[in-house]
Amino acid sequence: MTRILIIEDEQDLAGLVEYNLRAAGFETESANTGAGGLARARANPPDLLLLDMMLPDIAGGEVLRMLKQDPELRKTSVIIVSAKGQESDRVQGLELGADDYVVKPFSVRELLLRVKAVLRRGDADEGPAQVLAAGDILLDTSRHQVRVKDVEVVLTALEFRLLRTLLERSDRVQTREVLLSDVWGIQAEIHTRTVDTHIKRLREKLGPAGDIIETVRGVGYKLSPP
Ligand code: CA
Repeated sequence: MTRILIIEDEQDLAGLVEYNLRAAGFETESANTGAGGLARARANPPDLLLLDMMLPDIAGGEVLRMLKQDPELRKTSVIIVSAKGQESDRVQGLELGADDYVVKPFSVRELLLRVKAVLRRGDADEGPAQVLAAGDILLDTSRHQVRVKDVEVVLTALEFRLLRTLLERSDRVQTREVLLSDVWGIQAEIHTRTVDTHIKRLREKLGPAGDIIETVRGVGYKLSPP
């Protein structure tokens, strides 16, 4: 059964979300503080985490940063659920490694759709085992691992999906809109600058091997194997 952990200090909201997720067939757990949520996630890693940004103890962004630093939890899907709906908030949340961002107030139906979309994306990542290679980069889908000249490079779930998509479509230009839609699963809802920021970080992590990701001016990106 798919388990969802809700970190939310508004009891009524947490109760409503839990009720609806259970009715949709999910197993749920909730915590009303950041520290409590982290402890629960570590004790029993969930498949997906719904994370409020304004918590009484630790800021949601900090909780997310700690999750992404934890080897056991860094691949857990996270949806930020926040009252802060500015584009800069969304971009920041996604840059911290969240898979999606839902703004309060939201409809329960919309939240369920987002939850299912993020979980589907996670399943697709598992697909048939494949090893993709280009230049010094090796990406192993079954082990969810990237190596450059045999040294492991630790990527977030989003960076991994981005690199995998570029590798699978080697030599074909990918527009920012296509990447947003296929990697993030969203239709240009957030600024395409998010793609640029993630490409930049991915290149930095890959070091000189990352040079095979080319910028196609005014269009998008292309991975060109040597
Ligand atoms: Ca709150």
